[in-house]
Formats: sequence, structure tokens, C-alpha cells
Amino acid sequence: MKSVEIAPLPFTRLGALIGPDRYEPLLGFADEIRRRLDGHVVWNVNATASGGGVAEMLQTLLAYASGLGVDTRWNVLDGDAEFFAITKRIHNLLHGSPGDGGDLGPAEHAHYVDVLRRNSDDFIHQLSPGDVVLLHDPQTIGMAARLKEAGVAVVFRSHIGKDEPDEFTAKAWEFLRPYIEPVDMVVVSRPSYAPPFLDVDRVRVIPPSIDPFAAKNVEIPEDRVWAVLARVGLLERPEHLEEEVGFTRRDGTPGVVRRHTDLFAAGSPLPGDSRYLLQVSRWDRLKDMPGVLTAFTDHVSDHDDTHLLLVGPAVAGVSDDPEGAEVLEECVARWHALPEDKRQRVHLVAVPMDDVDENAFIINALQRGATAVIQKSLMEGFGLTVAEAMWKGRPVLASRIGGIQDQIEDGVSGLLLDDPRDLAGMGALMQRVLEEPATAAALGAMAHARIRELFLGDRHLMQYGALIEPFLPERPHA
Ligand code: UDP
Repeated sequence: MKSVEIAPLPFTRLGALIGPDRYEPLLGFADEIRRRLDGHVVWNVNATASGGGVAEMLQTLLAYASGLGVDTRWNVLDGDAEFFAITKRIHNLLHGSPGDGGDLGPAEHAHYVDVLRRNSDDFIHQLSPGDVVLLHDPQTIGMAARLKEAGVAVVFRSHIGKDEPDEFTAKAWEFLRPYIEPVDMVVVSRPSYAPPFLDVDRVRVIPPSIDPFAAKNVEIPEDRVWAVLARVGLLERPEHLEEEVGFTRRDGTPGVVRRHTDLFAAGSPLPGDSRYLLQVSRWDRLKDMPGVLTAFTDHVSDHDDTHLLLVGPAVAGVSDDPEGAEVLEECVARWHALPEDKRQRVHLVAVPMDDVDENAFIINALQRGATAVIQKSLMEGFGLTVAEAMWKGRPVLASRIGGIQDQIEDGVSGLLLDDPRDLAGMGALMQRVLEEPATAAALGAMAHARIRELFLGDRHLMQYGALIEPFLPERPHA
């Protein structure tokens, strides 16, 4: 078990954005929680300190909680390859996918318990009765029973799920059930993601949030957006090429956007005056990048100035991420099969991940420059890319699936595709936003308002505060 450092972030900057009606109640509530905690600690345990949505969210949320004076700490567990193979199997099953098809029998239970017992033995000495422990995802939940012996409250925070439970989700829950039973409360992102055997009064629903000040979301003035894209090497804009573009890293230090010459897996830099549709995703089958490509090339009428950008992380090598490499290859093959005029307008972009802050800033500029943002996923837990693009005032065209439905109100703050596999339907949505700029602008404005109202850190922290409050000792007012 290793501890991860949390650098507190001042909540005041978010306060300026959300206004006193939301900021003041949050300050008051944080005060109450701090007082009631009275020296106790709110612990978080997950599987990794970086990479992946959970680590990303903890980085920000815990930094703001610390900034509000709440003593919150973060530990990451130790496991071996066999342990992570078992938990990855459970993860895939909870998404309704068979994964590697391996067993979840007595041998897997034994190894899972053994690894988590060692982690618990290590962790339990850090706990005091009255602390609250949030265990994130299936990798950690096997510690619950042992930790309860220390007199702490234990919450299981499950970040994944599937709208309609199936035989695969049932198999995962059956494995996890004995480990979840002892916990005080379970938190999920949507009601349908709750373990099926729990009473609703033991379940809380808390969707994710985004941080408007992170490199991924921070404001970039419109004219600077195009300068960033040109500087990176995505745009033919010779007049901008020599301009240095800076950004602020997560730790507050300055960064400079590098010029990249290896961004295009297929296609070339966009002409400076073009408009583009964008999907940003990992090269994962469930994000259906090839489907987005075909929806655009086969179902949107040709406009010479309109391009499609499919953007994902640089795929390091076949051994690192075999599926990512395969999906990218499939997109490249589809691109090669296109007629020349369409090839000019489709671009497959792989952004390096060696500098995550720079990567985030490039994605930010890409989202801000897009005429519309697509998320044609076949499966989606929440879909942070949707919230990110909505925050930037972009009209988002996305599948009516998972947490995307909680973000976009169809026809108001974005457009939903009823059947995620409907290529002609996606093409029609693309066509609509391209031909109706006023509609696109109205959807974008409502999208921004929707994220501001529901998916920022204050809502998220208030919900976490309400979650832990019942476990804290009552204290008379001073
Ligand atoms: N992302 C990124 N670079 C990429 C592709 C994705 O930074 O090349 C980010 C994206 O902006 C979002 C996250 O990775 O913040 C993906 O989260 P989401 O919930 O959309 O999907 P997941 O990958 O967790 O299934």
C-alpha cells in the first residue's frame, strides 16, 4: 500500500465561477464536515495513482476537498499480475463483456483475498475508529470486512456498470457479493449500475464531474485555439508556426506545447480555413471510431471545407495495447479504401501520451475548435469526453447510452442517437449541425449551462459530504 500526495487546490477559483448561491452553502457544509470529522480522516483507496478516469477524478476532487480543509488521504494498493488479471476480468464482466473468459472460482477468490489481506494488514495501522474509508472499484472492495474491524465506516465506490444487467454482470456481482456485504454504503454513477442484491437505501448515486481549471478544460481564447492547433502540427497555418504556446500544468508549473511531426496515422494537416467534426476516444472497440468514419464518409453530403478528425492516444506498440493498435489499424484500412477526395477530409490523429498535461491541453484546443463533437460509443459508463465538450459550448452528437443520457437532454443540450449502431442516423445528425449553425450554437450554449449546473466539483463534493455525514460523530456547537 502506497500513499499518494495530494496538493490542495483553492476552491475560491471555482467559487468565482459558480457564484455565491452555490459557493456559500458549500463552504458552510465543508465547515460542518470539518468540525464533525474532528481530527478523523476520509481515506480513499484505489488501484493506481495515474492513468484512467478514477485516478484523474481523485486527483482533482481530493485536491479541492483538501483545499476546503477536509483531511482526506489517498492510498494505492499493491497487487501482482495474477491479481490484476482477476480484477480486469471482473471489470470486463461488469461492462457486460466476457473479457478473457477465465474462471472466477475458489482459486481466484483465494488469490484475491490473499493480496487484499496483505494490503489491509498494512493499511489498518493507519486507521483510527471513526475514520471513513472509500474503497474504489472491485480491486479494493475485498478489504472491507477486515477494515471494519478497525471501527471505521467503509463505502464501496463502484465507477463502472451497464444499463441492462446480463449474465456477465451477474457473474461479476456473484464474485464480489461476499466482499460488498459488510460495507456501510455503496456509491454508483447511475442507479442501474448498483449491485443487484442491495436494498436501494444502501445505494447512493453520484455522477462524476469535470474541473474547469484543468489543462483539459481551461479557457483558451478562440484565436489562440487555432494557434495551438497550428503549433502542434494539426493545421496548415504557417503564420502561427513559430509562435510559442504555453499552458499551465496540473502542479501549477508552466508547460510549452511541442511541435509534433508524427501526429497523423492517416491524413495530413487541415487547411487553415476548414471546419471539423471531432471524436476523441481511446482506440477501443466500444467507442466505434470506424463507425464514426463511415457515418461521415457515407452519410454526410460532401462539403469541401468540412473535415472529420478521429483523435486518440498514440498507440505505443502492439504489445502494450493490442486492441488499441488493432482498432487504429482498422480505421487506417478504411481510410485507405476511401476515394481520394474523401481521404483529403478524414484525419486519424494519435496524440503522444508521454506528457499528459500537454496531451490534455491539445485535446482541449481540439474540442474548442470543433464545429461539433461526436461520441458514438456502443457502451459508456459516464463519458467524460461528452461533459468536456459540452463545457466548451460545443454541440455534442452522442449515443443514447449509459451516462451520456444523464448529460445530454436530446434536442436541448445536444443530440442523441437512439441506436448507437445506426450509421445513417449519425450521418443525419452530423448533416444537421453542419447545415444549421443557429441550432448548433443554441445546443452548445445549453450544453455549457447544463454542465455548469450539474457536473462541476461543488455538486460532487456536496454529495460526498452528504454521503459521509451520517457516519461522523455528532458534536455540540461550540
Ligand atoms: N483522452 C485523452 N486523450 C486521448 C483520448 C482520451 O486525454 O487521446 C481523455 C478524454 O479527454 C477523457 C478521458 O480520456 O477525459 C476518457 O474518458 P471517458 O469517460 O470519455 O472514456 P473512458 O476512456 O474512461 O472509457
